[in-house]
Amino acid sequence: MYTFNHSLKRLEPTGSSCQYCETGHSSHMEDNFFVPLYKEQDRTNIIVYRSVKYQKIPVGIPRCRSCKEIHEKAATQASLIAVGLAIAVEVICFKIDLLWGFIGLFPSLFILFGGAAYFQNKFVEDKGITTKMNGAKQNEAVQDLVISGWSFTMPSA
Ligand SMILES: [Zn+2]
Repeated sequence: MYTFNHSLKRLEPTGSSCQYCETGHSSHMEDNFFVPLYKEQDRTNIIVYRSVKYQKIPVGIPRCRSCKEIHEKAATQASLIAVGLAIAVEVICFKIDLLWGFIGLFPSLFILFGGAAYFQNKFVEDKGITTKMNGAKQNEAVQDLVISGWSFTMPSA
């Protein structure tokens, strides 16, 4: 069950059973993971004027302190590794010559963003718990909202 927090404009879970390890319990509202869900309100598609209005609601996924720490530690470590790898690729490319240095920007950016996400999920799964987004996708309240037209991604303009 969920209650709507009017001052923070978010859905807060009333249950505390951790959605990530299924053994722990959430002891504090701020330990929960709030996944933002979006819904388009209306879409105006005129040739020169195009705008999208959307609503956003953060939905709280019950999470215990231990899972929160695993998620946060994995995110930090993954970013450090991704930044390190991206810099290494850039340094190697620039050592070849300037042109390669510029070409190398593309794989570096890919490693920076893709690598961070990849290592983050890997570190979380290695600890035997569910990743932030997979846990959110398994949440019943989130599934109900998705069925009624809400989405994990911001509608594009
Ligand atoms: Zn947990």
